[in-house]
Amino acid sequence: MIAFHVALYLFKSLTITNAEYTASTSAYMAPTGFEEVAVYKECRHNHVASLNRVSYDGCHEFIERNNGEEALLCDACGCHRNFHRKQTIYIPIMPLNTVKPKRKKRTVFTAEQRDRMTRFAETLGWRVQKGKSDEIERFCMEMGMSRRMFIVWLNNNRRRSNDH
Ligand SMILES: [Zn+2]
Repeated sequence: MIAFHVALYLFKSLTITNAEYTASTSAYMAPTGFEEVAVYKECRHNHVASLNRVSYDGCHEFIERNNGEEALLCDACGCHRNFHRKQTIYIPIMPLNTVKPKRKKRTVFTAEQRDRMTRFAETLGWRVQKGKSDEIERFCMEMGMSRRMFIVWLNNNRRRSNDH
């Protein structure tokens, strides 16, 4: 669901043109948890403006030069960054420490499964006996559960059975 919202924000932001953005800046404030980042897309430097014609160099995206002095000149077409169409995108801010590990879901058994497990556990004396491992294996297979699931259940329910 989060991924969907991010995709939606990115889609929305990509459809905002420069003019729309400046006209309604307040409507496109970065939402909580998102960082506003400016990117510079295709070059709109009209190289034949003096001839009253329109011709772009075909550069699709401003690429920053590594050297500091000309950092605002596009490494692809050589034009200033201002010639490139500015877009504002929102990038989700996700500090690592807020990502919580998901809690493992507890297995929920049906009443019938619990009955059968209780009866079987009683024959084992509520202990995982080494000599009974084949029997346990067979029981788990019949029940469609892993050996580990059964043993966890056995350990969780032993105290309850001792209370009787
Ligand atoms: Zn250019």
